Amino acid sequence: MRKIAFLLLICMAFSACSVTNTSKKSDAITIVTTFYPLYVATLNVTKDIPQVNVVNLTKPSNGCLHDYQLSAQDMKTLSKASVLISNGAGLEHFMDKVSAQIPSLKVVDASRGLPLLQDEEGDNPHVWVSVLGAIGQTKNIADQLAAIDNTHAKQYADNAKQYVNSLEALQADMHNTLQFAKGKKIVTFHESFDYFAKEFDLEILFKVETHDGQEPSAGELANMTNKMRAQKVSAIFTEPQYKSPSVGVLTQETGVKHYALDPVVSGEADGNLTAYITIMQKNLAILKEALK
Ligand SMILES: [Zn+2]
Repeated sequence: MRKIAFLLLICMAFSACSVTNTSKKSDAITIVTTFYPLYVATLNVTKDIPQVNVVNLTKPSNGCLHDYQLSAQDMKTLSKASVLISNGAGLEHFMDKVSAQIPSLKVVDASRGLPLLQDEEGDNPHVWVSVLGAIGQTKNIADQLAAIDNTHAKQYADNAKQYVNSLEALQADMHNTLQFAKGKKIVTFHESFDYFAKEFDLEILFKVETHDGQEPSAGELANMTNKMRAQKVSAIFTEPQYKSPSVGVLTQETGVKHYALDPVVSGEADGNLTAYITIMQKNLAILKEALK
């Protein structure tokens, strides 16, 4: 009888052990983000939660994910993940493939419910480039992560609040500094700065790159030059991730200088929590100089 009781005790101890082990294991979650700005936002939302591991799927050099094709390695990474943080608004053309091949993967849509700008191709996905959009995406990531991983819901909410406070301070600083530039006309490279221009009340006269990502033809370039000569354009803004020979031609023809603004699509691969804010502060310094 005593022996049986002893055995029972051991069994109970064992099962208790295994229960603890399993729950610990199921606590650990890997979150994959599709690209850099979401990676930085998610690092902030999941800060100081040891059970949560954040991995960025694409290399910083991939820039914006227009036309990005998933590799076999990407699919492998995704098959091991619990959650995928996507930008949404049509940026990730590969989402159908992901949900068909890994139906169990939970997907966060960082742009859910946010007001989207439209262009000829439909929704403009560059929501994160305005600080307002980055704040909305941070809140979306925290809310949707909390619904998926209830255990850490409070930490996600607290972290998001803290990060949003920093973003709001940045936003206030930018609005103060750029007050003088309201209504100024600029030329941009592709559609990435539309949200930014709207937030800070800058007018984009046109974009240098054509809709399918090509350099303008000689005729189009001549039209652009004429448009710029007819209006007072403050500056042309390019992006460090893309090189465009046409921009040099426009500067040469019109005398309007060009500057590089970073749409925060690339940066340090390891966990840099302040990357978005640092890059935007650099952009602010450039804008101040370019629009004066
Ligand atoms: Zn883009």
